[in-house]
Amino acid sequence: MKSELNLQKLKTEFRDGQEILYFMANESSFINLNEFLDQSLSLEFTGQINCIHCDRTTKKSFGQGFCFPCFRSLARCDMCLVRPETCHFQQGTCREPEWGIENCMQAHTVYLANSSGLKVGITRGENPLGRWMDQGAVAAIPLATVNRRIDAGRVEVALKQIVSDKTNWRKMLKGDVDEVDLCQEREKMRQYMPDDVTYQWSKAPAVNIRYPIVEHPKKVTSFNFDKNPLVEGTLKGIKGQYLIFDTGVINIRKFAGYRISFRQN
Ligand SMILES: [Zn+2]
Repeated sequence: MKSELNLQKLKTEFRDGQEILYFMANESSFINLNEFLDQSLSLEFTGQINCIHCDRTTKKSFGQGFCFPCFRSLARCDMCLVRPETCHFQQGTCREPEWGIENCMQAHTVYLANSSGLKVGITRGENPLGRWMDQGAVAAIPLATVNRRIDAGRVEVALKQIVSDKTNWRKMLKGDVDEVDLCQEREKMRQYMPDDVTYQWSKAPAVNIRYPIVEHPKKVTSFNFDKNPLVEGTLKGIKGQYLIFDTGVINIRKFAGYRISFRQN
């Protein structure tokens, strides 16, 4: 089997109690990656990168898949996306106010996840499962919903004084994660919620997530298409946005827009 495609963030399908499904999919290709577990694969970068927003070819990728003009002009590439507490929509300076209304001035969920240990995070909407799977969380629980992205950011800023807001991706990939009682942790967070944010406390249960993994890597080395166009090995698992080979791991999201040839050897 061989096909050529521009990489996009891996698509996921949650299955309760079973390993989640992973797809490499775009307009022209649809690859069910779970079917390739324990198979020898090669992913070869062709040298072509297309912006994931406007599709023009770009020599270099900015912000995980954008050409430079898009990176400079799109609201989704602005710094406030990484630091939501700095959302400046209300000052009238959003790069794309319409996009801001649809994406930032909407309900957001603040959650606790166990990815490489306990962490706090935020995501748009009231169903954070997709976000949790992208992070490689083995379990997660919603904490509260708020009406706007900036409020989610403010809650996150308050809570990250006591709990991390980052994932140690090496630890996450090694599967070296202790169990955490998320219901109990959620209750602990209550006293640290900021007074000046309106929120709705969540009563939703924790969700456990299982990844398709034959074997966790003992040592994590990562592939980089910019340094070596060929990624080759036996696929040992998929977790978060990473493909885990016996020869190293690769973060697919980081290389969104890269045109590759996918081959089963
Ligand atoms: Zn572009």
